[in-house]
Amino acid sequence: MKISDFQPLDSDTVPRFAGPSTFMRLPVAAPSEVDVALIGVPFDGGTTNRTGARHGPREIRNQSSLVRRVHHVTGISPFDLVRVADCGDAPVNPLDLAASLKSVAQHFAAVREAGAVPLTVGGDHLITLPILRGLVAEPPVGLIHFDAHTDTYDSFFGSRYNHGTPFRRAVEEGLLDPKRMVQIGLRGAISHADNYDFARSAGIRLIFIEELVERGVSDVMAEARTIAGSRPTYVSFDIDMIDPSIAPGTGTPEIGGVTAREAQAMIRSLRGLNAVGIDLVEVSPPLDPTGGTALLAATLMFELLCVLAESVKGRR
Ligand code: MN
Ligand code: MN
Repeated sequence: MKISDFQPLDSDTVPRFAGPSTFMRLPVAAPSEVDVALIGVPFDGGTTNRTGARHGPREIRNQSSLVRRVHHVTGISPFDLVRVADCGDAPVNPLDLAASLKSVAQHFAAVREAGAVPLTVGGDHLITLPILRGLVAEPPVGLIHFDAHTDTYDSFFGSRYNHGTPFRRAVEEGLLDPKRMVQIGLRGAISHADNYDFARSAGIRLIFIEELVERGVSDVMAEARTIAGSRPTYVSFDIDMIDPSIAPGTGTPEIGGVTAREAQAMIRSLRGLNAVGIDLVEVSPPLDPTGGTALLAATLMFELLCVLAESVKGRR
């Protein structure tokens, strides 16, 4: 099928409040039919405190009805670069974490085998682990990670699989190369003084919010691009990177985060990255009944899609 078969509904003929609720009003298709697959993972069984991220994909689909076609700075229209569609949700079991880890990994292995590159919406941050397990055919890959937290804890409540541990597991499993990993936006008090020890000893570059404020977005992002290099790299964006005054709909808010404009600038600086996949996680719609956090997420998802579409187009 052609690129013209994968266009958002025309807002001149179908109003934005009408029609089925898909990501960016795109058609529904199988991963084998597209270059970029928009996928939901409605799972928050890895959440240690305030839940609700299981509702992220559906509410971000709803808010993404406001997304338009052409990026106002770069002029990119991702829908003109690649075939992109809403490929539905990965199968999950809200009552069985281990089964969900397995089914999500299998789903993303099938996406890879179908030849599509995923832009995924969570779900809590644990979902990045099974995504990487399924997606990464030739490990390890690099990682550019936007988050208030490193998510490199060892365990909570005796469980090694929760939204505070995915990147530690991914390093241990050899999926990620810690020397090609950068975590940006870190902040907030920690539970124990040694909480950053694993990341530091592994060689992960930690960029705290104070350093980001001091150096500025472009300087920090230039360093992040150098760390990731030109080899395959995954991008993970936790919405709690953004200040909770504008993104309150998330389970683990930390004050002192970045603005929406800074987040947009950081994502735009990823142009040209050799991106093997991207996710956007931890949006909990029940914690923000205004819908503002989900709208912010949908808008950032468009920014991320512009980066990913250009990257995928450049490789084909
Ligand atoms: Mn996180
Ligand atoms: Mn976080």
